[in-house]
Amino acid sequence: MKYISTRGGISPISFKEAVMMGLAVDGGLLLPETLPVVGEQQLAAWRKLSYPDLAFEVLSLFISDIPPADLRDLIKRSYATFDHAEITPLLRFDHLHIMELFHGPTLAFKDVALQFLGNVFEYLLAESGEKMNILGATSGDTGSAAIYGVRGKERINIFILHPHKRVSRIQELQMTTVTDANVFNLAIRGTFDDGQAIVKSIFNDIDFKTRHHLGAVNSINWARIVAQVVYYVYAALKLTEPGTKVDFSVPTGNFGDIFAGFVARSLMPGRIRRLVLATNENDLLTRFVRDGEYSLGKVVQTCSPSMDIQLASNFERFLYYLYEENADRTRDAMEGFAESGSIRFSAEEQVTIRKNFRTKTVSEQETLETIRDFYEEHGYILDPHTAVGVGAAESIADGETPMVCLATAHPGKFGEAVERAIGRPIELPPGLAGLADKDSRCEVLDADAGLIRTFIQENEV
Ligand SMILES: *Cc1c(COP(=O)(O)O)cnc(C)c1O
Repeated sequence: MKYISTRGGISPISFKEAVMMGLAVDGGLLLPETLPVVGEQQLAAWRKLSYPDLAFEVLSLFISDIPPADLRDLIKRSYATFDHAEITPLLRFDHLHIMELFHGPTLAFKDVALQFLGNVFEYLLAESGEKMNILGATSGDTGSAAIYGVRGKERINIFILHPHKRVSRIQELQMTTVTDANVFNLAIRGTFDDGQAIVKSIFNDIDFKTRHHLGAVNSINWARIVAQVVYYVYAALKLTEPGTKVDFSVPTGNFGDIFAGFVARSLMPGRIRRLVLATNENDLLTRFVRDGEYSLGKVVQTCSPSMDIQLASNFERFLYYLYEENADRTRDAMEGFAESGSIRFSAEEQVTIRKNFRTKTVSEQETLETIRDFYEEHGYILDPHTAVGVGAAESIADGETPMVCLATAHPGKFGEAVERAIGRPIELPPGLAGLADKDSRCEVLDADAGLIRTFIQENEV
């Protein structure tokens, strides 16, 4: 399998090159040349596989330049850090299913992808003898998951920008209490989008990027998307037979997770019906589906901070398929967006968009009510991100087709909001208790790309 750019400016590259490149050098995002499709016979055989074995089968469709035994080993080590035998267990509550994606070391779904990416980086750097400085911006969960993915690894330093005082206390501590010498936490005075813009601008400076061996861990890295495709396939295999379908509700911010769902749907034709794009009050993507316009909004703070985003960094990947794989159009649209802050879609395109996604914005109040009602009805506690997905699912599910709601974080990570909803404090899971007593390390800096560059130069591996 070879990889191309959504903007058409690179000749096809291998998976290994795509992982190392992160953002395509022409400013676009990397995608496989073709989206693989798996037949019914194969799906039937996959049904019995354990999560790591299924992951090997799915990833092998996208990765042809790592020897199978090595790939198996990378996958095995990536999911050995999870505390549940099924890795991503499914729970059933009437017609709603909850898939818990938070059994990794930082208790959020990003571990599924970043434990794998960290191991792939280590493997590729050992092979080439090179080194890497990872640079990323986080709205909370990516940062800690990325840090846990590479802490203590040789040939890698990691620089993670988070919005100062705009992540939860637990999220902040999960990052800043990792004091390995290769980990640098930078708190930026600004929003997540400011941090993301700085990272993008530094990556777009090809000379700086090359000189300092920069690597990306944001959800633009293809290895992350592909690792997330696996759990959609896993759930769909458990809940469908040939001829029956399943829906997924996905709490969405950067469009990464739901894009993995889009890839999974195309991989197993006929098995996945609706993808519900659930947003909090940062409704950029809801407006895109509902009004046929992708346009910048103002970021508001909510109790699901990992989705407080008004610029969805993976959106361009879907755009490329919406434009029928026309890279010139994709590039023009994204360049136009950079100038005007919006892209409008034709009536015909809007029909295609609505065929691909259902959508709902779930307000703060509805999110808290969903947590409370679900707890009263089922005795199960949702985290606020998961509750956005469940709230959207409840208004969209038809009651017949199974609906899988992705549970993207452990509720203990967002205890304050959960306590507001259910009226009592919840117990911290073992991984989070005691963080406040640990040593921590963090630099607070203005949201200025120049300052960040200097910091990297002074602390690179
Ligand atoms: C990152 C994150 C999301 C959103 O995922 P995207 O891939 O950015 O759409 C949802 N919930 C939690 C807990 C997250 O950390």
